[in-house]
Amino acid sequence: MGGVTDLHLSGVSKSFGDVAALRDVSLEVADGEFFTLVGPSGCGKTTTLRAIAGFETLDAGDVRFGDREMSGVAPEDRDVGVVFQNYALFPHMTVTENVGYGLRFRETPGGQSREERVGDLLELVDLAGFGERDPDELSGGQRQRVALARALAPGPDVLLLDEPMSALDARLRQSLRTQVKRIQSDLGITTVYVTHDQEEALAVSDRVAVMNDGRVEQVGTPEDVYRSPETRFVAEFLGDNNVFEGEVRDGDVVVAGTAFRVEGADASAGSPAGDPALAPDVSEGSVAFCVRPEHLELGPGSNSFEATVEAVEFLGESFRVHLDWDGREVVLRESERPTTDRVRVGFDPEDAHVIAGGRAGKAVEPSR
Ligand code: ATP
Repeated sequence: MGGVTDLHLSGVSKSFGDVAALRDVSLEVADGEFFTLVGPSGCGKTTTLRAIAGFETLDAGDVRFGDREMSGVAPEDRDVGVVFQNYALFPHMTVTENVGYGLRFRETPGGQSREERVGDLLELVDLAGFGERDPDELSGGQRQRVALARALAPGPDVLLLDEPMSALDARLRQSLRTQVKRIQSDLGITTVYVTHDQEEALAVSDRVAVMNDGRVEQVGTPEDVYRSPETRFVAEFLGDNNVFEGEVRDGDVVVAGTAFRVEGADASAGSPAGDPALAPDVSEGSVAFCVRPEHLELGPGSNSFEATVEAVEFLGESFRVHLDWDGREVVLRESERPTTDRVRVGFDPEDAHVIAGGRAGKAVEPSR
C-alpha cells in the first residue's frame, strides 16, 4: 500500500463541445478520507473522477496527489484503483484470475506471492472459497466485490468508485455499502465515491461534496450538509425538505402572509446554529425558509399554519403526510395518522433553517 495520499483539485474546468461538464472545481480530499461526490445526473461527478484518474485532459486547473502534480501522468502511472458501475469482470477468467489480473505487470505489494495477495483480497471482500468460480456463477453483489478486490490488488494509493452499486437492488446496496465502508476504513485508503443516491452519500462518507451543473455547491460532513445547507439546491437535493420562499420583515420571515418567528433559527451564511435572530446578511429581503418533515408536527407549535391533508403514506416506522398549504406542497413525518382533513402544523423556530436570498443567485429561484 502506498504512502500518505491527499488529493487536491484546483480550478478544474472541462468542456465537451458546448457542454461545460466542470466549471472551476476545487476540492481537497484528506489522506484516508471517504469522500463522496453526490448530485443529479449530468452534474459532473464522473468527469471529476475521470479527471482524478487521468482519463481526461483538463481545459484548466490541476490535480495533485500530495505535492505531486499529475498533468501528463498517464492513468496507469497514477496508482489509482477504479471500480465502475458495470462490473466489467473478464467473463472467461475465474474470480482468482480476475483479481490477479492487475498484478501481472506489477510487483505484489509487501513482497507477497500473487496467490497470497489474491487470497488476502478475497478474504477482505468476504469471497474466500469463490476463487475458482466464473463471474457468471456470482450474484451482482459478489461480482462488485470481485471488481473491488481487483482494483485493490496492486495496492493503489487512491480508490475511485463510480456508482459501484447502482445495478443492485436496495437491500443489497445497503449491505454492500457497509462492507465497502468497512474495507475502506480497514485499509485507510483515500477514496472518492460517486453516487446520485443522497442517502448512500450521507450514510458512508466522512465528507460529501454536493455538485450541481458542473460546480461544487457545498462541501461538508454529512451532518453539515444535511442540517446546514448553504444553498437552496443543497437544501432540496439532500433528503426530504420543505423549502418556502419568504421575505424578512421586522426580524420575522413572512411566507404567504404568515409571519414566522425565526429567533433561534439556524441561519446559513455565517451564523452559528442557535444564534438568536438572523445572520447579518439574511436580515432583509428574500430568503429560502426550510423546515425538514421530521421537524413539523401536527398541532400548534410556536410557529404554525393550517393545511389540508392530501395523501398519507405508511412507512413502517412513521407516516409521511402530504399537505397542501394554500397551493404549496408540504411534507411532514408523524408517528400517528392524521384524523382530520384540515390540520394545524407547528414547528419550533430553532428547527427552521434560513438561506439568504442572494446566495449563489439561486436561493429564491425554483431549482427545477
Ligand atoms: P450521471 O450521474 O448521469 O453519471 P454525472 O454527474 O456523472 O452524471 P458526467 O458524466 O460527469 O455527469 O457529465 C457531465 C456533463 O458532461 C453531462 O452533461 C454529460 O452529458 C457531459 N459529458 C460527459 N462526458 C462527455 C463526453 N465524453 N462527450 C460529451 N459530453 C460529455
